[in-house]
Amino acid sequence: MKIGGLQKVTLIDFPASIAAIVFVNGCNFVCPFCFNRDLVLDNLPTISQRSVLSFLKKRKKILDGVVITGGEPILQPDLEQFIRKAKRLGYKVKLDTNGALPAIIQKLLKKNLLDYVALDIKAPLDEKYAPAIGLEEFEPKIIIESLKLLLRSKVPFELRTTVVPGIHDKKILAKMAKQLRKAVGRRKIPWFWQNFQPKNCLDPGFEKRKPYKKEKLEKFLKTAKRYYSNIELRKD
Ligand code: SF4
Repeated sequence: MKIGGLQKVTLIDFPASIAAIVFVNGCNFVCPFCFNRDLVLDNLPTISQRSVLSFLKKRKKILDGVVITGGEPILQPDLEQFIRKAKRLGYKVKLDTNGALPAIIQKLLKKNLLDYVALDIKAPLDEKYAPAIGLEEFEPKIIIESLKLLLRSKVPFELRTTVVPGIHDKKILAKMAKQLRKAVGRRKIPWFWQNFQPKNCLDPGFEKRKPYKKEKLEKFLKTAKRYYSNIELRKD
């Protein structure tokens, strides 16, 4: 694994766990609003897997979870081995993913290697998806496939969206809420919205965009909740 960062503790990123966060380099999306520019562009020096595992071994009495995030972790060819090593140390594993490689998600789910998943939903699941992730073409059915895999599994999961002016507005978020309700059915899957942060963006032009004010986001939320009731605003 190309590990570009290690956060030694988090109380908020893995529900019901005190966890460490492992950040991997590289991504297959180029979301212009992404605030992990150096990680995505693989500009950060790598931290050895051995030192991360040795840290986890030492912290076993304090931590019980590992969040693997990025970048995009499912691009790492030895992700499965890393998860197995963390699990052998007694850790629960949370995977943060953009959902672009459902076959790998399926493999990890089948092998019972995941304890929690956060799946990004970047934009409406239609022709607006590709520009939102900085690609010329992308088939949003792939994201629905990842979502369906998670729905069929017993692994708890959440959906996540960064709300970005120019990509999302009240109408678009309501449309996403309808699409997600259709895909999720009656299941109560939490969908978290986080506000865009205009710093260190992959497209520096996005750093000039002002995030929505909290009051505005709350108005959007009220409308979207008519279609998808389990939405929460995540604190910055
Ligand atoms: S925000 Fe987009 S570019 Fe950045 S890590 Fe996530 S999927 Fe990759």
